[in-house]
Amino acid sequence: MRNLASPSVIKEILSEYEFRFSKSLGQNFLIDEGALSQIVAGADIKDTDCVLEIGPGFGTLTQRLAAAAKKVVCVEIDKTVIPILSENLKDFDNFEIVNSDIMKIDIKSFTAEKFGSEKVKVAANLPYYITTPIIMSLLESRANFESITVMVQKEVAKRLCAECGTKDFGAISLAVQYFCNAEYLFEVPPSSFMPPPKVTSAVVRLDLLEKKRVCVKSEEMFFKTVKAAFAQRRKTLLNALSNAGCFGKSKDEISKILNDVGIDAKRRGETLSIFEFAALSDMLGK
Ligand code: SAM
Repeated sequence: MRNLASPSVIKEILSEYEFRFSKSLGQNFLIDEGALSQIVAGADIKDTDCVLEIGPGFGTLTQRLAAAAKKVVCVEIDKTVIPILSENLKDFDNFEIVNSDIMKIDIKSFTAEKFGSEKVKVAANLPYYITTPIIMSLLESRANFESITVMVQKEVAKRLCAECGTKDFGAISLAVQYFCNAEYLFEVPPSSFMPPPKVTSAVVRLDLLEKKRVCVKSEEMFFKTVKAAFAQRRKTLLNALSNAGCFGKSKDEISKILNDVGIDAKRRGETLSIFEFAALSDMLGK
């Protein structure tokens, strides 16, 4: 089996297949043995596990996932990668390659089709141009996920794991808190990739909660409230919510609701806990 963590092997593949890395598809391939092993360990992949990988590239992580898991399904958008990936995985018989855009897949029915009723662990070195939409679509999919372990830009990793009251806290932190427990695992420098990205990366694991962290009357209203509060981050909550114009309520009515819920109208969205957002959205939805 070719050692895909070796820059000289990657160079051989580039010339053999006349392959060029696509910047627009976020093709920065991991060439760091240590980081690859840490991702598999961090994702806690066992031989009974079903794994969904997004963006396998040449298959460097896929080889390790296939060696550790029961079954791996990987979704890769770039059709020019597929013959290289198939060649690099030829020693395994527990994987499936799907040539598709993950954003065009109905993730719930896709995982049900590929893994039946089994729980699924996601493991991926995500393409950075589309990190947040992919994570949101995984979280909102209601698929049978046990955990999502992803490498993303360090700044995004911090936002995923941020607590309220910190500068990194935002809409995505609340979405993560709503569905998961998050853990910031480790950082990976640009030199661990080929070609090296401009930014430092980090790996996080999101463990899906059996029961959502807060019980809200309407999930749609909860996320609408969160989105409105962070759309104008520097504004007070009262101004951000009334400027959003999506609650069908006047500024005075919103002011009264904030008062009734016990939230100072001058606070900013980033200071509210998920529990305060839940109470506020229930009242805004009335
Ligand atoms: N897993 C490999 C590794 O760790 O070296 C490659 C990771 S690279 C950062 C991201 C991969 O995602 C690329 O192979 C890219 O072609 C693929 N990709 C980009 N956009 C995608 C999409 N919308 N759906 C599926 N794969 C995508």
